[in-house]
Amino acid sequence: MAPRPACGLLAAPRLRHLRDTVRREAEDRPGVYGMWGPSGEPLYVGKSVRLRSRLLSYFRAEPGEKPFRILRDTHRVAWEYVPNEFSALLREMRLIQRHRPRYNVVHVRRRGFVFAKITSEAVPKLLAVSRAVPDGSLYFGPFPRPRFVAEALRDLTYVLGLRDCPGPLKTPFSDQLAFLEGLRRPGCLRAEVGSCSAPCVGGCTSREYRERLDQARRFLEGSGGGLLLSLERAMEEAAGNLRFEYAAALRDRLFRLQDLHREVADLRSRGERLSFVYRLRGFRGSSRLYLIRGGLVEAEFPCPKGQRARERAARLVRTIFQAPPRPPERMGPDAAAEIFLVAGWFHRRPSETTRTMSPDAWLARFGPTEMG
Ligand code: SF4
Repeated sequence: MAPRPACGLLAAPRLRHLRDTVRREAEDRPGVYGMWGPSGEPLYVGKSVRLRSRLLSYFRAEPGEKPFRILRDTHRVAWEYVPNEFSALLREMRLIQRHRPRYNVVHVRRRGFVFAKITSEAVPKLLAVSRAVPDGSLYFGPFPRPRFVAEALRDLTYVLGLRDCPGPLKTPFSDQLAFLEGLRRPGCLRAEVGSCSAPCVGGCTSREYRERLDQARRFLEGSGGGLLLSLERAMEEAAGNLRFEYAAALRDRLFRLQDLHREVADLRSRGERLSFVYRLRGFRGSSRLYLIRGGLVEAEFPCPKGQRARERAARLVRTIFQAPPRPPERMGPDAAAEIFLVAGWFHRRPSETTRTMSPDAWLARFGPTEMG
């Protein structure tokens, strides 16, 4: 029986040419590939440990399948080889972040992380933002579960009486313009229900407001457990006074803040857990080293052979791991995605941690003896 073309794609000479190119030139080894449209616009970036097989599978796609749709629009395919699956994953993610290809919707449209931000305004507030930038604000994160974190930060805002009104607040604190007291009306109902310290009408001094912000900062740094205790007490008191609805609202708020506190602890331990030298086999047995700090792959290179290569590697290991940790706003916009990718890699493959070494252990074992 004559082989039947699996789809109508190959009726187009352009696609037959692409398939023949892949057949002739691509190798079955780990790699990353990209597909471009008629005007050179990026359509899709993918990866595979068997690059040639993956690319050829596109030409067998059925109408309605995503590969069919991608290939139908494709005018150029290019690829590059990488040493192993980990490198492929990393390179794919970086290319997607850089080119934002139309069909990589999962990576491009759904940012699965968020930062907590204490703004640098005259009267700061607490926000959940998708990017950390060097704008003088304080950032914490990245955290997963953006919607949950946004809700928990709202709880923290209410519990501490911080403002959440939009825009900058020019109104002075009570210690700065006392003569206006009584003449101004609060900007919103939160002042009346007591959930905001109301700096808009001089409801607190600048110092009181700063102390509230400090509590938020400490909480987001992992301390500040006292806040949870007082919330728990308030909940019990409300229940004791038969204010069950209010007690239930406090309980929900308490649970969310406890959960956020765990996320903060997890963030801190993730930074420590994901800091090591990772040695991984490359294609055809050549090993590579990945210098991973706080979940970010700061450098990668072939395992050093010989004294001079080991000296260079040791210098790099020292430079990277002895530098002060990078604060979120200095990480670059795509660092969060990389941290979660690396965390996910080791989470799904716990045995991979046996290939990691602390920088000190690596230097002691593999560094050049005169530098050790
Ligand atoms: S009470 Fe005033 S400061 Fe507080 S959120 Fe409302 S407008 Fe802003």
